[in-house]
Amino acid sequence: MSEPLPGAEVPSLWRDTTGVEASFPRLAGDARADVAIIGGGYTGLAAAHRLVEKGMAPIVVDANPIGWGASGRNGGVVSAKFRLSFPAIAEAHGMPVARTMHRLCHRAVDEVAALIDDYALTNARFTRCGNLRCAHTERALSTIVDEAEWMRRELGDGSLRCLSADEVAEETGSRAFTGGVLASGVGSLHPLDYVRGLAGGLVRRHGDIVFEGSPATGIRREGDGVRVITPRGEIAARQVIVTTNAYSDLTTVSAPIKSRLVPFRSSIIATDPLPVVLRERLLIHERSYGETRRMMRWFRKVDGRLVFGGRGAFGKRDSEVAFGALRKAMVSLFPELADVGIAYRWSGHVAMTMDGLPHVGRLDDRLCYAVGYNGAGVAMSTLLGRLAADFAMGDAPEVALLDANRLKAVPCYPLREVGVRMVAGWYQFLDALGR
Ligand SMILES: Cc1cc2nc3c(=O)[nH]c(=O)nc-3n(C[C@H](O)[C@H](O)[C@H](O)COP(=O)(O)OP(=O)(O)OC[C@H]3O[C@@H](n4cnc5c(N)ncnc54)[C@H](O)[C@@H]3O)c2cc1C
Repeated sequence: MSEPLPGAEVPSLWRDTTGVEASFPRLAGDARADVAIIGGGYTGLAAAHRLVEKGMAPIVVDANPIGWGASGRNGGVVSAKFRLSFPAIAEAHGMPVARTMHRLCHRAVDEVAALIDDYALTNARFTRCGNLRCAHTERALSTIVDEAEWMRRELGDGSLRCLSADEVAEETGSRAFTGGVLASGVGSLHPLDYVRGLAGGLVRRHGDIVFEGSPATGIRREGDGVRVITPRGEIAARQVIVTTNAYSDLTTVSAPIKSRLVPFRSSIIATDPLPVVLRERLLIHERSYGETRRMMRWFRKVDGRLVFGGRGAFGKRDSEVAFGALRKAMVSLFPELADVGIAYRWSGHVAMTMDGLPHVGRLDDRLCYAVGYNGAGVAMSTLLGRLAADFAMGDAPEVALLDANRLKAVPCYPLREVGVRMVAGWYQFLDALGR
């Protein structure tokens, strides 16, 4: 099963339920901008929004149709978290850093809400329905309950509530969990309509500043600025922001960033519409749900279908085996779904970093970037796009551990695939042991 080629539409539930048909021109001829943005996902578009808000003139180019990257393919879970827990951050870096990181997470969700409100993106269906983290073992439950109590005590976070196994079973319809922690204030959205809506809104307000089918193939320093080259047109700009994230291998312009990221395939399946009896019994509060396993699986109900995501195939192609494993995992949590058909399956790449954190800032005097969301980037990319724009305008916003200088190169880069398989195998082993 092959990966959708650059330029090709990505078949998904989101594509078939989109309420926003949007297309954008290719860049042609000579253009001038204050900031050229390479990559038209949430990060690039949020950066463009921030720049126009400050009276600057940005131009966004994407190699593919807007929404082709992770921003149009993801699960639409809007979360306020990093891969690292806040107690772990506090232990390693101190309480002031943990407090700043916690503020950044919640600010990221508020940024999504603000953009959706500003551009009236009703099709994006953003709701603060809450996220329920479901524990797969007693040990995992005690870890997340301790973490929630620590966050309430030390960070004053009142958004977390612990649920018993019975409460989780009643709400999810699955008896597979030992309990859970419910986070309010976070939520879900329709990912493709968020990215398309944002791009369309920017163009309606500010003219042709978003171009698709326009890969940046080169960046040349010129005078005190830069020239971004695409096949049919060029942009003369003072600064560039690179927001190509897990798709930093499409051309060589993102090479310095690519070597700091490990792309990892994440896959999603969506069932046929559920029979009424199941629709009324499973995920009754229609939140987003995630597991405590290291190799996390998550699920939602969308338009009466169960949408289930987790690790995808290794290597360059999707595989029947990986989608089959995802289905098996879904049925192990919801045995009633054994006879329900799968209507959609698709995948995309997430960008992992060595420290498990995204990073934003400056690469040199003319180039800024924001990348590395480690699979939890819907909200964070919206915030870091904004902050990347601030860096490009010469500001230095407080980003604590997300500082670009902390983004380290991946050691033995050519062996990264082998490394990914080994780490995934180790995590699966620990998950199987319940550790
Ligand atoms: C299957 C899947 C499920 C996910 N689920 C969730 C979830 O539920 N919740 C969550 O928080 N996060 C999730 N994520 C992660 C989230 O989608 C990403 O972190 C986020 O979308 C990153 O946005 P971005 O704008 O940085 O990158 P992208 O949206 O990937 O955009 C990068 C863009 O750069 C373009 N590009 C690359 N090279 C060039 C070039 N040379 N010139 C021009 N353009 C170029 C690409 O075409 C692409 O459109 C998921 C990701 C995947 C793949």
